[in-house]
Order: sequence, then C-alpha cells, then structure tokens
Amino acid sequence: MKNKFFKTLVFFVRLEKVTEPIPLIGHIAFGIIDRGTNMLQVRPFSNCPMSCIFCSVDAGPKSRSRVTEYIVDADYLIEWVNYVVQKKIHQVSILIDGVGEPILHPDIIKIVKGIRENKKVFEIAVETHGLPLTERLVKGLANAGLDRINLSLDSLDESKAKYLSGHQGYNVSNILRIVDIALNEGIKIMLTPVWIKGINDEDIINIVKYGKEKGLFFGIQKYVEHPRGRKIGKEVSWKEFSEFLSEIEKMLDVNLFLSPSQFKIYPDVRLGPVFEIGEKVIGEIVLDGWMKNEVIISARNRVITVVGVNNIPKGVSMKVRITRNKDEIYLAKIS
Ligand code: SF4
Repeated sequence: MKNKFFKTLVFFVRLEKVTEPIPLIGHIAFGIIDRGTNMLQVRPFSNCPMSCIFCSVDAGPKSRSRVTEYIVDADYLIEWVNYVVQKKIHQVSILIDGVGEPILHPDIIKIVKGIRENKKVFEIAVETHGLPLTERLVKGLANAGLDRINLSLDSLDESKAKYLSGHQGYNVSNILRIVDIALNEGIKIMLTPVWIKGINDEDIINIVKYGKEKGLFFGIQKYVEHPRGRKIGKEVSWKEFSEFLSEIEKMLDVNLFLSPSQFKIYPDVRLGPVFEIGEKVIGEIVLDGWMKNEVIISARNRVITVVGVNNIPKGVSMKVRITRNKDEIYLAKIS
C-alpha cells in the first residue's frame, strides 16, 4: 500500500533499496539499532515529507545535508529482527522509528505483522509525526498487531503546527480524528511532542490537557541542538526541562515522567561491537552514503559509514580505520 506522501517522496531523492546480503546493523538511518537493552529500534525507511523547523536529523525536502535515503526490504528486515531478538535474555519491545517517517514504508503493515509472529516480542510501537496516518493504515496496523503509536504532535493549533512541521498539508484535526480511530481499534497512544522554549510552551500545556481528557500517555521530548540538525530557539538544560514538566504535572495533575521499567525496558545483552576503535578493517562499498562525501561499506556482517571520501563506486574494496562504535553505529576513515 503506497501512501500518497511516499509516491511524492521517491521522485525527489536518491532512494537505495537495502536488501540481502547487506547487513542491517551499523547505520543510524536503516536497519536495527541495539542500545544494550531489551528494546530494539527498527528503521525500515529513512525519508520524510515534512521539514520540521527543529529537526535534529535535517530530514525532508528542505534538507541541506542528506543525499541518499534508504528503504529496507520487508522480509529481510523481519529476518534480521528475529536474529537479534533471539539473542536477547528478556522479552523484547520493538520501536519502529527512524530519521524520517518510518510508517511511509509501503510494506509497514507486513513488517508489523511479521514481527508480531515472533513470540518473544511483547510489544510493537511506531513513532510518527502523524502526517501519513490514514484510517485505512491505522486499521491495517491494528489488525497486524501494533500495540502503540508514539505521536509527535507539537501543537494543537493548525497554523502553528503547519509552521513547526514545515508542511502546509499538516492537518491537526485530521490527526486527532485518526487518534480516535486508533483508540477504538485498541492501539495505545503516547504523545511525544518536542518542547522548544519560547516557541510552543502553551501548546505543550494544551497537548497535555487534551491527552489527559483522552487518557493517553506522555513522553514529552526536549529540543536538542545537533551539529547537523536544524537550529531554532534555545536549547534548555535538562534541569529546566524537568522543572517545566513538574510545573505542568502540578497544574494538571498528570504524570509526565515515565521510567524505562514502567515500559518493561531493562539492560540486556548486546551482539557487539564487532570492531574496536582504531581497528583497521577491509570492506566493500555496498551503498551510497547518507550524507555528502560518505560511502557505506560492508564487513564482518556489519555496515560502516566511511567519511571523507568522494566518487568511489560500489564494489570497490577499501581499507578503513574505525572511529566510532557506540551502540554498533560505525564510522570510519580511510586508513
Ligand atoms: S522531526 Fe521527524 S517528521 Fe519532522 S522533519 Fe524530522 S524526521 Fe521528519
């Protein structure tokens, strides 16, 4: 099922299909991210039709840094999820998220259904800003076994929401209509707006009022400046963020601080890292780079982003030195 936003998106980007035998661990934009707990982030699709003015990953039509987007083959992604899940000690929670709008993957329902068949998975959630949500999609996701939608709705005001999302088609009343449908279908909703001090203070309070009336969960996010992200307003300290949430809690008698254990998320075994920092590795170029002057190589069943390279075609082997291995997101330079 191809969403109208997906159809528009594929015309304007270089879209790489990620399929066998390209490993699905190692890159931040696609595949699986394992941060050493029993929650796995699963990233099927990297592009986004929106251009949120605060976007930490510079996504969407207004991106100035991204040159390639990725779409992962659904069956292959499910295979990899099963492979990582069976290594974990605890039952596993899956969050389908990404550096774009993951639910725009044309096979998103198939992906949810495929993961649901794994009896060791106790929960599946998707993260979205809501633009691609339709009644048909939500009903399909509910039938496939989706448990929760994490909805990053940053304002209930129509024109403010359009401004924040950088998309004139962003329609709050339609998204709220779909929230009702999702609740009727048995999907939980967690509201995950981004607070940007001085830009959407009142909006966050109104979102919490709305969520309280509907009996929803909250996972309010702090605007964080990233080197490659879009800059807007001023980033507040974690202390100020916590004080802001505490004030709203008191004002509206709600709980805005949820701990990982409430979501049954615990430390768990990791598969890697399979490369040490400084290690020299030989790999073959398998994908174009996400950003300019990057390529992606494959080695030891992982992908590695090599930075500072130009015009090297796929299939070429190169020797690199690993510069980052945190959470098995690998970066390297030519050695
Ligand atoms: S914040 Fe999310 S929805 Fe907004 S542009 Fe970035 S990736 Fe897209």
